[in-house]
Amino acid sequence: MARIVVVGAGVGGLATAARLAATGHQVTVFERAETVGGKLGRYLHDTPAGPFHFDTGPSLLTLPEVFHDLFEATGAKLDEYLDLVPLDPIVRHVFPGGGPTLDSCADPVEFATRIGAAFGDRAAADWQRLWRRAARVWHASERDILRRSVDSPRDLASLAWRLGDLAAIAPGRTLRGLGRRHLSDPRLRMLLDRYATYTGADPRRAPAALVAVPYAELTFGGWYLRGGLGTLADALLTRCLDLGVVVQTDTTVTRIDATGGRVHGVRLAGVAAPVPADVVVANVDAITVYRDLLPHSRRLAVLTDRSLAGFVLLLGVSGSTGLAHHNVFFPHDYDAEFDAVFGDPGRGVRARPAVDPTVFVTVADDPMVRPTGHEAWFVLVNAARQGTAAGAVDWRRPGLADAYADRILEVLAQRGVDVRDRLLFREVRTPADLDAATGAPGGSIYGTAGGLLRPANRGPAHGLWLVGGSSHPGGGLPMVTLSAQIVADEIGPAW
Ligand SMILES: Cc1cc2nc3c(=O)[nH]c(=O)nc-3n(C[C@H](O)[C@H](O)[C@H](O)COP(=O)(O)OP(=O)(O)OC[C@H]3O[C@@H](n4cnc5c(N)ncnc54)[C@H](O)[C@@H]3O)c2cc1C
Repeated sequence: MARIVVVGAGVGGLATAARLAATGHQVTVFERAETVGGKLGRYLHDTPAGPFHFDTGPSLLTLPEVFHDLFEATGAKLDEYLDLVPLDPIVRHVFPGGGPTLDSCADPVEFATRIGAAFGDRAAADWQRLWRRAARVWHASERDILRRSVDSPRDLASLAWRLGDLAAIAPGRTLRGLGRRHLSDPRLRMLLDRYATYTGADPRRAPAALVAVPYAELTFGGWYLRGGLGTLADALLTRCLDLGVVVQTDTTVTRIDATGGRVHGVRLAGVAAPVPADVVVANVDAITVYRDLLPHSRRLAVLTDRSLAGFVLLLGVSGSTGLAHHNVFFPHDYDAEFDAVFGDPGRGVRARPAVDPTVFVTVADDPMVRPTGHEAWFVLVNAARQGTAAGAVDWRRPGLADAYADRILEVLAQRGVDVRDRLLFREVRTPADLDAATGAPGGSIYGTAGGLLRPANRGPAHGLWLVGGSSHPGGGLPMVTLSAQIVADEIGPAW
């Protein structure tokens, strides 16, 4: 049995803790916030009409079997803890200039039929051709990348060499390039481009292999958790506690002790005595581990690029709008949005809030999250990360967040959904707020941007492991949960 300390109680930290405790280890989790969940955050707003419950982070759960596996590995059944609701449509896509909307679903044949009805037979045939390729990419990456540890560019290269699926993965091609090659309809190209942002990347630079992301969503489905996605954090915490994990909130780890090439434990803020450990699993951002927590700060070659952040509005809306659960309102000029949120520091172009951004609106039809006769809206817009460098925006600048919230409500009104006179309240969450709440540097949602190679799970000292969205295999709830599986498997059982 090893004494294991997990730093951070995000989904990755909790999932690793539960798996390790189930295999006989003695596990303690230190979390600097008051509550667990990390980016899987929640916000409660009381009003005379009743309480509104918001998810402040994820709104879509994909690859549910990853979570079934997790619960099973810890001796439980997911259905006893969580109420999964399949979504159809998964997302309603609203394109610029009016015209038909497109509802995505988890049945590829039905989705092609919907594309045909909205945009014509050629568009449907294009999509089906792309889909066959996406299937090959998904199977190759699921088998060889997502479920195993990949520690170096050499590992990745040798994997790709063995795959025999190089033609499908199209190394060197971008997601944008793949869309241009296969899709003649500009609306389908936009739809495909958007999946780059699921990993925090710009589709013009993100690898074509990210076509596996829509494949997973539109093959295995998109799900809501009744009561909100935050119920996943409750369930993971309960699992951990039932398995004997000690979870200590309000406790910041200030340093990971590692000398002589191996970890010895951690230091806590305000506590003189070190906490000894045989193994440390860091669920904090990889940059924080390498730069701030280890005794000698290091640079990580793969951490060249930070990912997108998000600007969020939480709205209490009276009455009913008739929106789908998830709605995407695309802009006229998608590239102008990417130019704005990423900037181009190399050419001296600063990042800035996009004037006419894509707006993602989630409205759960769930009486558990809003008073009768009202809607709880989660509105998300891609945003540059917090900072003062050219590739960032200083969201703390007085007046900026409120002015941008006004702008987003105006954009929505221009796209046919004006709720400004039905607002009971609005709350704003900027990238600076996400940074402060979860320690995500600059409020970046997904750590490094877009590549297949992220910081390895194996840390630079023996007994140190990295888990979560900024390390392999990447961000998003299922990837983070797979990351926990990889790390727990590498550490192995106590017996
Ligand atoms: C707005 C938004 C929308 C999203 N939408 C989706 C979606 O629809 N679907 C999806 O699958 N994913 C989505 N994601 C991504 C998903 O939320 C993340 O990938 C995932 O929750 C990250 O989990 P993690 O394990 O990396 O840990 P994190 O959530 O990053 O948690 C890390 C934890 O470490 C703690 N910590 C930091 N420093 C210290 C320290 N020094 N000592 C102790 N504790 C520390 C933090 O407080 C935090 O609790 C979204 C995220 C955001 C922000």
